[in-house]
Amino acid sequence: MSTAHPRRPIEDGDWNLAFLFPDEIAAARSRTGLAILPLAPIEWHGPHLAMGCDPLLAHAFARRIARDLQSPYFPPLFVGTERERRPETVEALGFPRGSYVEGMDFPANSVKSAYIPEEVFSLVVRATVDALLHRMAFRAVVIVNGHGADNQRGVLDRLCAEYNASGQPRLRWVYPGFPRSLVAGAIGHATAEESSMLMAMWPGCVDLSRLPPGGPLRNVDHAVVDGDTFDGAHTPDFTVRPEQDPRHHTDAARGERFVEEAAREAVADIRRWLSAGAGPREGAPGR
Ligand SMILES: [Zn+2]
Repeated sequence: MSTAHPRRPIEDGDWNLAFLFPDEIAAARSRTGLAILPLAPIEWHGPHLAMGCDPLLAHAFARRIARDLQSPYFPPLFVGTERERRPETVEALGFPRGSYVEGMDFPANSVKSAYIPEEVFSLVVRATVDALLHRMAFRAVVIVNGHGADNQRGVLDRLCAEYNASGQPRLRWVYPGFPRSLVAGAIGHATAEESSMLMAMWPGCVDLSRLPPGGPLRNVDHAVVDGDTFDGAHTPDFTVRPEQDPRHHTDAARGERFVEEAAREAVADIRRWLSAGAGPREGAPGR
């Protein structure tokens, strides 16, 4: 009878820690000391993107950089937080002044996002990082954070500052697939860039035919929002800018280039950070 081995994820360069044997984890730990932790919430991303968009991007990016860094990544945590939008953002989106809107959960959406409270999110991340550092004895953790909410970034920045206070590199976070050239501008939500990246990494999770075939996309109808609008510069009719319309500018090849560029940047930054032994600059602006 044949005793051929079934193929393992690691043989395809997938360092998901859940599929590794203890001696493989111990060997990686003594070689690099690094564990990668992808996370983001299930969240509304328009009718055309799967609701796992952010954690799926975080997962794929963690897998991508783990391969280069030859270090395990923890199974993705599908957790994230949001909170009420600022009054000026609510108005820029096209809602009546004083409306209460949490994150991307606009009233017209058919399903709400699985946000958890900021306090709980903070404890879950802290407990997981502690398990990796203090129980599993990794020396450093890099979080791949797929969700750009202000309060999510705030929690991660605070934890990074605390864990790195000794001057040793212990904790930092990066975005998945957004190279510096893109983060320099304002990043939209479920617009062309994010749709392109998801199409590149998880092709079955994008279906542009689920958006209306024609006419401008009103922010309040689909919760698809361009980056400038988040920054207060909305279009006169509160619609997505044509150049960021996912129906016309989703391009898997472009998404692939973003991811590759961002992966090269992240790997270089992480290597420098680990060897410098000093605290990093956490994250970057965007959402
Ligand atoms: Zn997203």
